Amino acid sequence: SLPPEPQPIRRLQESVINRIAAGEIIHRPSSALKELIENSLDAGSTSIRVTVKDGGMKLLQIQDNGCGIRTSDLPILAERFTTSKISSFSDLSKLTTYGFRGEALASISYVSHLSVVTKTKAETCAWKAYYADGALIPAKEGMSPDPKPSAGNDGTTITVENLFYNTPTRLSALRGSSEEYARILDVVTKYAIHNPSVAFTCKKAGSPTPDITTPSGSNIKQAIKQLYGQTIAKDLVHVNTSSDDNEDEDEDEDGENSWTAEAYFTNANYQSKKTIFLLFINHRLVESSRIKKALESIYNGILPKGTSPFMYLSLQLDPRSVDVNVHPTKREVHFLNEEAIIEQISTKILETLVGQSQSRVFEYQT
Ligand code: ADP
Ligand code: MG
Repeated sequence: SLPPEPQPIRRLQESVINRIAAGEIIHRPSSALKELIENSLDAGSTSIRVTVKDGGMKLLQIQDNGCGIRTSDLPILAERFTTSKISSFSDLSKLTTYGFRGEALASISYVSHLSVVTKTKAETCAWKAYYADGALIPAKEGMSPDPKPSAGNDGTTITVENLFYNTPTRLSALRGSSEEYARILDVVTKYAIHNPSVAFTCKKAGSPTPDITTPSGSNIKQAIKQLYGQTIAKDLVHVNTSSDDNEDEDEDEDGENSWTAEAYFTNANYQSKKTIFLLFINHRLVESSRIKKALESIYNGILPKGTSPFMYLSLQLDPRSVDVNVHPTKREVHFLNEEAIIEQISTKILETLVGQSQSRVFEYQT
């Protein structure tokens, strides 16, 4: 058969390109929420309240009491690559969170109806603004797109409505609203544990009682107890270790290889059907099936076959050692000396677990 006639190559519309790019950053309601929570934390909030309708597909709202956004910044807030967090290329390597460089709100504005109410301490009232395709838009046709004075407390409320209304492929990849809501609760739960000084709530719109509520000024252990229950909390082991504990390594002058780790793990008394694993790298919730596997294998010989632990690990690495070739949206992370670091942490955890069970045997014997 004959080859097909060549078809002309056409340039895609700018808005189509942006929508596709946005869909690669924001996969589902819970990934949008993750970005919004990180923004609220970056703004120094001590209270973060999440309201959800229809699994976040109809409505995802996050209200914080952070520093707010300056009124003069509102026109470029949702533009791509606008950020208050870095100002030069070299700042990228110092960035302690490797989230987005001014891409999250822009992305959200391309694939949803986005509005913002914000008030800084210096302002006498809050300001409300609507966005689409990276820019301010009027609240109603015929009005000016400029932000309008509004009632509101110090802090920022971001409202995301009809996520993916204009990206049917993304929308059809989503699960039902109860599964998307479960993912949202999971993200809020995990950030609440990692940030126990911040009060979190998460509820369905119109529901009088939140599904998650944590107080401010808590600690990690109390937060685990509150969100995962006493059965996990009572059997927790706490481990801290860092590059300083490694005697074979030469002193690292510029800190490029230095790292610290904090872990909370259940001991042999806790046996679950499925592993619960929380991994934060430089305060960002990430996934790594390799690290999960490596840590689970500590429990071979400690837990009966077919049972699993609860594991929380927070790693702080030099941002330069987190693989820059892995786009931050990729869920699986990689970093320098990963195997050696995980092995040192595993050894420390194993020692602690074994030490604990030996002292228990010892107690029984005496
Ligand atoms: P990035 O977080 O990488 O800067 P975003 O698109 O997530 O990019 O946010 C853009 C900017 O908007 C931030 O740098 C910050 O200045 C501001 N911002 C976003 N959310 C909030 C918030 N909840 N409180 C205060 N400022 C915010
Ligand atoms: Mg952000």
